[in-house]
Amino acid sequence: GNFNDFQLSSELLKAISLLNFISPSKVQEQVIPAVLAQKDIIVKSQTGSGKTAAFAIPICELVDWEQNKPQALVLTPTRELAVQVKEDLFHIGRFRRIKVAAIFGKYPFHVQEKELKQKTHVVVGTPGRLIDHIERGTLDISNIKYLVIDEADEMLNMGFIEQIERIIANLSHERVTVLLSATMPQDINVLCSKIMRNPIRVEI
Ligand code: AMP
Repeated sequence: GNFNDFQLSSELLKAISLLNFISPSKVQEQVIPAVLAQKDIIVKSQTGSGKTAAFAIPICELVDWEQNKPQALVLTPTRELAVQVKEDLFHIGRFRRIKVAAIFGKYPFHVQEKELKQKTHVVVGTPGRLIDHIERGTLDISNIKYLVIDEADEMLNMGFIEQIERIIANLSHERVTVLLSATMPQDINVLCSKIMRNPIRVEI
């Protein structure tokens, strides 16, 4: 395949070529067109498969630059993954000037609060601190149209499922949901059945 086949903007294609991605990985072949078509998708794949770019590319393509409220929310189990995903989104969205904030615990709340007051298209973060910001009114999730749950099995292992459900309870139903996981324990399937609509399932 070829990235030109996805009908991406020249800004996205330029960023992808600067990253030296020659052709889409298997997971990208499946996920990019699904999200561009606004479909929910469950992805069973490992780290190293190119899973981050698989959701970052369509999200950076689809967000409306003009809107000031966050439009995409990416949930990660750890701070390290949040930072990595933020960097990947930055590199992919750089020529569209996509603004990404990373929100995680054990870091000054007020610094994140200040960051969230700036124009932000995509928020990446760990569940606990995201809930703090949502409940204190410093993160507005009323305009979230794209939700990504990354490394869902790790989230489950770390006991984050209830917090994830609490966040999702506050999101609009008019959204696209992408869930990625290396393994698919029953609890993840139960979560998917609660939060997704007719999801596509892919296994890489
Ligand atoms: P991930 O699975 O998201 O952790 O990505 C693993 C690595 O693959 C990262 O260093 C990416 O920059 C790289 N990568 C992602 N997509 C592609 C691609 N289509 N071609 C080459 N490298 C890629």
